[in-house]
Amino acid sequence: MTAIEPRITEENLDPADWDALRKTAHRMVDDMLTYLQSVRDRPAWRPIPSEHKAAFNASPLPLEPQDIDQVYEDYNNDVLSYPMGNIHPRFWAWVIGTGTPSAALYEMLAAGLNPNVGGGDHMANQVEKLVIEWCKEMLGYPAEASGLLVNGGSMANLTGLNVARNVKLLEAGIDVRTHGLTAAPRLRLYCSSETHSSVQRAAEVLGMGSESIHTIPVDSEFRIDLAALQAAINVDRDAGSLPFCVIGSAGTTNTGSIDDLNALADLCEREHLWYHVDGAIGAVAALSPATLPRLHGMERADSLAFDMHKWLHIPFEAGCILIRSREQHYNTFTLTPPYLVHSTRGTAGGDLWPSDYGIQLSRGFLALKVWMSLKEHGIRKLGRSIQQNIDQAQYLKALVEAAPDLELLAPVALNIVCFRYAPSGMDDAALNALNEEILLQIQEQGIAVPSGTKLNGKYALRVSITNHRTLREDFDLLVREVIRLGKAFAHSLPKQ
Ligand SMILES: *Cc1c(COP(=O)(O)O)cnc(C)c1O
Repeated sequence: MTAIEPRITEENLDPADWDALRKTAHRMVDDMLTYLQSVRDRPAWRPIPSEHKAAFNASPLPLEPQDIDQVYEDYNNDVLSYPMGNIHPRFWAWVIGTGTPSAALYEMLAAGLNPNVGGGDHMANQVEKLVIEWCKEMLGYPAEASGLLVNGGSMANLTGLNVARNVKLLEAGIDVRTHGLTAAPRLRLYCSSETHSSVQRAAEVLGMGSESIHTIPVDSEFRIDLAALQAAINVDRDAGSLPFCVIGSAGTTNTGSIDDLNALADLCEREHLWYHVDGAIGAVAALSPATLPRLHGMERADSLAFDMHKWLHIPFEAGCILIRSREQHYNTFTLTPPYLVHSTRGTAGGDLWPSDYGIQLSRGFLALKVWMSLKEHGIRKLGRSIQQNIDQAQYLKALVEAAPDLELLAPVALNIVCFRYAPSGMDDAALNALNEEILLQIQEQGIAVPSGTKLNGKYALRVSITNHRTLREDFDLLVREVIRLGKAFAHSLPKQ
């Protein structure tokens, strides 16, 4: 008998030359570390020239393989050249985390192992389980609660409000999973005018409509007005609606204000309402012992949403939802078709299927970068980094107050400072136009990246500090540049 000739006809996507890939991989890691190490030397941001965009978008669909070194070259030329800027020490726009060099490597490990963290018996699910345990502990949330890593605060809010809606309607005799909202009374949920827009998105997605949101005004410190909240609930009950949920903000996006979280918990207990806290920004400030007392009441929430890609500097994407009742959490989402049946043995075993606790079935290994980052830094150091940003916000506030032509536009409750250049003799309309121009100049000149917002009709330069690379002198520079640009443009803008 003659031996069977081994003949490889199948294709696969592994490298033909592993040694060559190894070389490229080492170069990628080296380049990335050099890039991160030198981030302060580059402009905070640069506008993308329109020709660059046009040329890039004209790239044809690749039909045949290209050399990986060429592909990497294209990345360096086309993509790396115009970054968002959020890893720069003077990026303070919106609420965007900075990431860490090591966590970039953790992402690589996660992608290499490439598990689907939806369920089954493998260690990735256990890593997520442990990370959730740690999250509860570090935020002081009850140990018996359940939780899920999600891709961010919006998804965390949606997931929490989904449980809230189902639970409260079930208490009213309506099984919304089966019947939907057709038989439901008018649902009402309460949050302040400063609450993040993802809550409206959630209300819309959950079929309640944005009209289900009863928006409550805020006090002079941008916190929800408790008397107005109580009055709104009374009015809605009298009108036959079903109040079901109150949302407290642990750090609002505009100004970083923190609602009276204990008072909201008391009110929700009294009124039998679901208590959801949006802690996308501020919940992790609990890691700083100096700030923790201001978050008291957060741990009483029925559901607590927070972000890890903001102030914990986990690379995008990572957020978390914690739900006080594991049973209510599970009952909202569990769905097990025959092809996903959980067993007690084999690969479909496992004590935890994360897909029973959220909207996604297939899920990435978000937990790895969180687990490794928490181990690498320890929560005390992360807490110090957060407190450093809070102290820097006070430093910037003092600089603003000391400068005659600058005006603070909101109290500085946490890590966000809103101010404007406001020399005397200009009305609000002129100041709005001027400050918008100052913001654009600061960004386009690559000096720094604050963002803009409007507070009580006044355009504000908004500096939101979730950046472990920022130094105090970065704010000295910012203030100097705002004043310089303000002076330069105060008289050159077209009249409104
Ligand atoms: C950023 C933010 C969100 C949304 O979080 P994403 O991670 O961007 O989805 C929700 N609430 C607040 C207060 C936020 O600042």
